[in-house]
Amino acid sequence: MNERISPPAAAIQGSHCTPEQYEALYRQSVEQPDAFWAEQAKRLDWFKAPTEIANWSFDPVDIRWYEDGVLNLCHNCVDRHLPERGDQVALLWEGDEPGVTRSLTYRQLHAEVVRMANVLKTQGVKKGDRVTLYLPMILEAAVAMLACARIGAVHSVVFGGFSPEALRGRIEDCRSRIVVTADGGMRGGKVVPLKANVDAALDGGPEVDAVLVIRHCRNDVAMMEGRDRWYDEVAADASDDCPCEPMNAEDPLFILYTSGSTGKPKGVLHTTGGYAVWTALTFHYVFDYRPGEMFWCTADVGWVTGHSYVVYGPLANGATSLMFEGVPNYPDCSRFWDMVERHKVNIFYTAPTAIRALAREGEAPVKKHDRSSIRILGTVGEPINPQAWLWYWRVVGDERCPIVDTWWQTETGGIMITTLPGAHDMKPGSAGKPFFGIVPELLDAEGKARGGAAEGNLCMATSWPGQMRTVYGDHERFVQTYFSAYRGHYFSGDGCRRDDDGYYWITGRVDDVINVSGHRMGTAEVESALVSHKLVAESAVVGYPHDIKGQGIYCYVTLIAGEEPSDALETELRQHVRKEIGPIATPDLIHFTPALPKTRSGKIMRRILRKIAENEYGSLGDTSTLADPGLVDSLIEGRRNR
Ligand code: ATP
Ligand code: MG
Repeated sequence: MNERISPPAAAIQGSHCTPEQYEALYRQSVEQPDAFWAEQAKRLDWFKAPTEIANWSFDPVDIRWYEDGVLNLCHNCVDRHLPERGDQVALLWEGDEPGVTRSLTYRQLHAEVVRMANVLKTQGVKKGDRVTLYLPMILEAAVAMLACARIGAVHSVVFGGFSPEALRGRIEDCRSRIVVTADGGMRGGKVVPLKANVDAALDGGPEVDAVLVIRHCRNDVAMMEGRDRWYDEVAADASDDCPCEPMNAEDPLFILYTSGSTGKPKGVLHTTGGYAVWTALTFHYVFDYRPGEMFWCTADVGWVTGHSYVVYGPLANGATSLMFEGVPNYPDCSRFWDMVERHKVNIFYTAPTAIRALAREGEAPVKKHDRSSIRILGTVGEPINPQAWLWYWRVVGDERCPIVDTWWQTETGGIMITTLPGAHDMKPGSAGKPFFGIVPELLDAEGKARGGAAEGNLCMATSWPGQMRTVYGDHERFVQTYFSAYRGHYFSGDGCRRDDDGYYWITGRVDDVINVSGHRMGTAEVESALVSHKLVAESAVVGYPHDIKGQGIYCYVTLIAGEEPSDALETELRQHVRKEIGPIATPDLIHFTPALPKTRSGKIMRRILRKIAENEYGSLGDTSTLADPGLVDSLIEGRRNR
């Protein structure tokens, strides 16, 4: 499919970037990067403006941006907005129960951040120390991140859905001495016992100086004498004065462990100046944010999307950012649209997994709510099947709202490939064009760059300010993982196709590319063909050893609500894929399953599906980050029966 859709004129009137401006800015960003990035740095307040701009090498690997600049990101997200927008809401929060809300103006946010920063200081936290945050999606999560940034501590946010073991590993890896948590978090009407999980993680494990506990659900918790303290009690005596620590641009800002869909989690380290410029700039252009608008990114702060587009990007731009503690299907599957209506959301950013799940429920839950406030829609996290894209466009956006399909990674800090609402036509299923300063290259197995319309391994030829700087405590792993496959290039691990118009189409991880009778095929393509069938809600396609073809096509398929698998449907789906792509893509095995194994961030765990398809149940690897580990057994059972 290569449909082209132009952004509706009304939605992009007065947009930050026209097609001509994109061309001019993009050209400058790659031809005169120092001048371009020196100019972009002015989006921020610096205690000392940088004179050194780009200073990086991919061989040997050494990446520095703005290295003589001094700034504080908390100052840029909070303090500097006080004169102009002290009374504007910075963060609006809605809890798990509809209509339960709290908000913080920039002035209130400042007071809360200062208080928490002083509490951290009284617990002995100093510049450079790591602080683990294991919190629900509550205002204090953002406050704690900003408080760390204020005093120069390095936060490591661990998603509240992770198990005690996963938490323990992450505390140990970065040797943090302080954990900030809550008694519990609410998700879909149930309490997640966060404090109890911390107790289990620390039991016989890493030693910490203090656990600060935020009172939220008021569920029962055990408090260990000498180690655990209620945050509100310590905070009561905290001083209301705490200056922002001057940070060098290359001082660490945070560590975030990758979700582990491809292996053991890595402690991705981001630094201050480059990350700040990158998130501020991408937020401004990609979401075409206008002052006063309500921005809602549904990601949890436990993921990089939450770091960059719930907290840092929006607040650096003086925006109002909505935080949501609950889940999309509680109390029912119209929750997102109910909130859009009540809070008059202007920009809505979510993931394909949520879009597919909601599309499965039909149009009625969407249509019953007024969505006329929405101006821009966004998606991130996985390739979005054209079918799901069109549903988002037609049903959610009423064909009024440009969609930005944003490709990026924990490692990249912010958005890398996307259309810009006012500058580009959209193609359902394609992420679009490189953002300013991004030079993608598609390399073949020998490391040769393929020009024009081509397919290959998605690499970056040059650095950008938001790039991760190292794997915490293991620089060699950083070099090995990202710079050894193709010397002198950053390798993303994704496969990609570029079309005649210079649009990029992510085909999935490179190890998801399958080779059927000598034909290379991106699994994303077969998945999209399956999902375009009206009864299919979701699918995951992997290769498995096949005597004749080398690799066969193994398709896991989830049907829409209320549909049952049958032999007739299996035959029909085979025919359907043949028709959509061609005989070469005909599925060899179709495995119906009520659900697909996903990471807690909602990404399909193809690594595990591949092992099961290959009949290798013994070596499934780390399954601790799966949302529903029990599902694996039923998938194995289903595999054995064929
Ligand atoms: P891990 O690195 O631990 O395996 P992860 O890669 O899933 O986890 P992220 O950094 O959040 O964790 O995800 C980045 C990956 O998500 C990209 O490499 C890409 O495969 C996929 N991705 C993100 N956004 C898009 C998008 N808009 N289109 C296609 N793929 C996307
Ligand atoms: Mg990754």
